Amino acid sequence: MKIILLNPIKRGQNFNVNVDAVIARHTGSRSKGGDFSPLGLTYIAALLRENGFDVRVLDPYPERIGFDKTIEICKEYDMVAMPLATLNASGAFELFENLKDKNRVFLGTYASSVADFLLAKGRCDIVAIGEPEESMLELCKSGGNPESIKGLFYYDGKNVVKNRARPLIENLDLLPVPARDLIRNELYSEVIFGKPTALLLGARGCPFPCTFCATRLMYGKSVRERSVENITKELRDIIENHHLEHIFFIDDTFTITEKRVVELCDAIIASGLKFKWVCNGRVDRVTPVMLRAMKRAGCIEIRYGVESASKEVLKKIKKNISLDQVDYAIKETKKTGIAPSCFFMIGNPGETVEDIRNTVSYAIKLKPYYAVFNISIPMPGSELFDSGTETALKGLDEKYDTVNSSGASGALSGEVLNKELLRSYLRYYLNPNYLGQLFSQLIQSPSDVVPVFRMLLRGAKEILF
Ligand code: SF4
Repeated sequence: MKIILLNPIKRGQNFNVNVDAVIARHTGSRSKGGDFSPLGLTYIAALLRENGFDVRVLDPYPERIGFDKTIEICKEYDMVAMPLATLNASGAFELFENLKDKNRVFLGTYASSVADFLLAKGRCDIVAIGEPEESMLELCKSGGNPESIKGLFYYDGKNVVKNRARPLIENLDLLPVPARDLIRNELYSEVIFGKPTALLLGARGCPFPCTFCATRLMYGKSVRERSVENITKELRDIIENHHLEHIFFIDDTFTITEKRVVELCDAIIASGLKFKWVCNGRVDRVTPVMLRAMKRAGCIEIRYGVESASKEVLKKIKKNISLDQVDYAIKETKKTGIAPSCFFMIGNPGETVEDIRNTVSYAIKLKPYYAVFNISIPMPGSELFDSGTETALKGLDEKYDTVNSSGASGALSGEVLNKELLRSYLRYYLNPNYLGQLFSQLIQSPSDVVPVFRMLLRGAKEILF
């Protein structure tokens, strides 16, 4: 059996889509932070290949392969599997329309959250619900027959059949190292590095209950950590076999426990591997000891989700952080010499225009390395999405397919939010407070300013085009 695993594409697509089969919170937005490699596909590919299957990974947009050519390539395979993404779902549907004689499988959070709908409408033949590696392996071993394979939903010609749920993989160390030799690593980079960057997932899942986040659908509240030795093995593969010296630890929350982070950082130092890295962090989990260990091990930036300066909004979205914790984390991160960047959301339920503007004022006072503002859109798999599923499903083919805020979560209209988004960026980046910081960076280390412009350029493209 020949299998192709690909990222979705639609006709005329001119932007990268941030979607993954394994990183549960990547459901198909544009990312201001970088162009991410298809990590989940390389995980599945590695497992299938290890079991003797002929497998290809294709990422059409970054590889500059057009829509029709992608169909042509897929026709050479028996099974076609891809994560469904919010921004180009119509393309995925059209692609599968042209491949009716193949086993057509959707993967990832978005597809898992609306599997019944997809199957009943004939958008695909099979959906791998949740964590995909083992379900995909069993499906290939069965020659494409999904009957009684745990974790698969499929259409039997009359009904949607829901097989039993697949338990999460207990020991992630047993998975092979992602097949990075099957992708063009040079196509993927991070704004902070501007150079080829590998993604590495050291743990899956997150115990926090943020209502806007899709992680819980795939992984519940559990966190499964890979061993430090297993992560170091992958680091060695990335650096020695693929010659990549920049890494994004894409864990939902890298800074979950001090002990674990310090152990990993010590192992990185002991390995002698030289690379720079960034990660996602929670303001309520970082400690000075942790930060110092990260700095020693080559961490240069931590991305914190701050979301809002309104206590009510933070409570409503169940972020479970306080502004004191934000202040502390940013101060300590700067003190260690790591750049803290902050991500804010606008348009959450209960939020007013005044709240949004207060959030921007707070960001100005906080002075992170850079600030990113996003409109809150109910991501499939999130509590926010579930609370409006009916509305979301109605727009499945169109609404999510355009870069707009028509799916916004709160009471403010898309028009208002788009204006506020632009206003937020202008206020933050043209503020004398921030310009002063940028200017002193320019004098001390001009290269530190370049990533900010890269990020702004990506943000501008999203807002204006
Ligand atoms: S902390 Fe919140 S936003 Fe971050 S991964 Fe966990 S649930 Fe998602």
